[in-house]
Amino acid sequence: MKPLIVANWKMNPQTLAEANRLFNSVKNGVKNIKKVEVVICPPFLYLFDFLSRWIKSQILKLGAQDCFWEEKGAFTGEVSPTMLKDLGCKYVIIGHSERRALGETNEMINKKIRAVLKANLKPILCIGETEKERKEEETKKVLKNQLEKDLTEVRILSNLIVAYEPVWAIGTGNFCPPKEAKKVFLFLRKILKNSLILYGGSVNSQNAADYVKKADFQGLLVGGASLDPKEFIRLVTNVAKT
Ligand code: PEP
Repeated sequence: MKPLIVANWKMNPQTLAEANRLFNSVKNGVKNIKKVEVVICPPFLYLFDFLSRWIKSQILKLGAQDCFWEEKGAFTGEVSPTMLKDLGCKYVIIGHSERRALGETNEMINKKIRAVLKANLKPILCIGETEKERKEEETKKVLKNQLEKDLTEVRILSNLIVAYEPVWAIGTGNFCPPKEAKKVFLFLRKILKNSLILYGGSVNSQNAADYVKKADFQGLLVGGASLDPKEFIRLVTNVAKT
């Protein structure tokens, strides 16, 4: 099984021209790397542009950063899993901590996961503890609770991908040491028998390979480092060497 590296561009870059430059640089930089599957999750607008032009290239896969749970109808501003599937999208990030912080609840995340699976897309469910919870040694309890609530009545887990993203490590440069992350990985593996488990949180080209090689994660969710093409290509190259 190839390691999966998912680039979460968040609300970046600000123009389609820049997005195209970034996408093309990454595509050219990783085109000969066969040992890693690279997924780009750009903002919805760029996703449409990339999918319509690059769906056949197969060098990079594409994913969305979120979606709604209904298939169609009077839901102003929302995008449905059916629409993403129709475009050729394969993955959808669900429950990122930045969305949870804006008010997304476990119930909403649960509906999204079920809708994404129903549309035959692969959800990448993000879970993670806060700094306070980590200090209080509540990590395992918090993760178990999130999984129970987010995955209520979700039966088909074979397409599910879970990203362990400690909230305190996201965008801070303060990554979770691979040794510590491995303990969490082993805990999650007992609960999630068949799902891929990724690590995310200040991953860069220097630390990336350790999460795969030493901590056994099946891949990575990368934010900041995915916006710098040289750094991201180095990161993918280093993981491919593991
Ligand atoms: C993320 O946004 O999911 C993330 C892990 O960000 P960063 O790599 O910047 O910490």
